[in-house]
Amino acid sequence: MADVVIIGSGISGASSAYELAREGLKVVLIDRFGPAAMASGWTLAGVRQSGRHPAELPLAKAAVEIWQTLSDELDTPTHYRRGGNLRLARTPEEAEIISGIVLDQAAAGLDISLLGSNAEVREVAPALAEHVLCASLCTSDGSADPTSTVLGFVRAAERLGVETRFGERVFSIDVVDGRVSGVTTDKGTIPAPKVVVAAGIFGNEVLSPLGITVPLQVPMVTVLRSAPLEETLTQVIGVANADCAGRQEYNGRFRVTSGLQDWHGGLLETETAAGTRPRVLPTGLSMAEVVQLFGDVVPAFATAQIEDYWAGLIDLTPDALPVIDAGTGVEGLVVTMGFSGHGFCLGPITGKLVSDLVQERPARLPIEAFQYSRFHNSRHFLEGATLHG
Ligand SMILES: Cc1cc2nc3c(=O)[nH]c(=O)nc-3n(C[C@H](O)[C@H](O)[C@H](O)COP(=O)(O)OP(=O)(O)OC[C@H]3O[C@@H](n4cnc5c(N)ncnc54)[C@H](O)[C@@H]3O)c2cc1C
Repeated sequence: MADVVIIGSGISGASSAYELAREGLKVVLIDRFGPAAMASGWTLAGVRQSGRHPAELPLAKAAVEIWQTLSDELDTPTHYRRGGNLRLARTPEEAEIISGIVLDQAAAGLDISLLGSNAEVREVAPALAEHVLCASLCTSDGSADPTSTVLGFVRAAERLGVETRFGERVFSIDVVDGRVSGVTTDKGTIPAPKVVVAAGIFGNEVLSPLGITVPLQVPMVTVLRSAPLEETLTQVIGVANADCAGRQEYNGRFRVTSGLQDWHGGLLETETAAGTRPRVLPTGLSMAEVVQLFGDVVPAFATAQIEDYWAGLIDLTPDALPVIDAGTGVEGLVVTMGFSGHGFCLGPITGKLVSDLVQERPARLPIEAFQYSRFHNSRHFLEGATLHG
């Protein structure tokens, strides 16, 4: 019998498993595919505080603190780099948006500044094009390698005794008299008094039979990865209207994303060396657009050889904020999903918050904004997610 079963080994589930095991709990971590098989592998992996909703900002700041020493803590290279985040304006209208972001976020206490001319922008990022008008710069933002980080959490959790079960799918969360009693998978049942749902876009598959549904839209994002190029860019690049974003990885490859696009439900299962993995294919048109848009602001990318491509799916809630909550009405159930395109940076603090909730103590940071019940309150409108790295 486990103390906790965690459904999903993306960054949210893997960091939760690690944190709970650090505190001595007996944890089973299950993934129907494997670590970082979905959003946590598909991601751009920006570690960003800038542009955050005020409710998420304290979490992002706390996460960034943890990222500083996470490689040492997990004894795995996360390839975290605090290279900064630049959000660019390409038109006068975008310049107004950027100025507004800088004012708002500086007032919220973030180390964000306005680079008001192309010369100022290119002084910090010479790889950018000469027609970029201005940019916001948050020097304490950065990026990391997503798969290495999630594997780091998983291995550290295993060293602490977590039982990992990959290639196993949870079909149902078992509930007796309003209390969680375990899960049923395609391989059998696992009794446990606590269950954490960290299943990303598939979270509702296991929650809906309990009468719990997190309202989600699932848009997709086209992602391109280039062959290695000489290192010219340390910042993560976003643009004011979020139609593209990108960064150069530690290995010289550019990882570049589109804006949000409609997903029509296609998801292939392909065999890889690591096991069966889900894959969503972007359209050729969308890939060409990404090359054009990002190549327009980072000219070196326009002629780069593309080595790999995929589409990533986003668990987008109506207010683009996650659910991190134990208050669904089912005792012993903790939900952590709906990260709406921002959850990679938050991963290390998400695990700590989940650990608080599982152990029924007050959360170490304010999480009222992430309650499940907000969706049942009167007014809720779609704010829409944006990806800026
Ligand atoms: C293209 C793209 C760019 C992004 N860019 C950024 C960025 O720059 N910065 C940032 O902070 N965030 C970014 N995000 C968002 C971020 O990647 C996600 O919010 C985060 O990775 C979510 O992690 P998760 O663990 O909650 O979910 P996931 O990583 O999706 O993990 C869920 C896991 O649950 C498993 N699962 C589902 N159902 C079951 C079941 N029934 N049984 C067992 N296992 C199950 C799945 O196999 C999966 O591995 C981006 C996302 C995408 C797609």
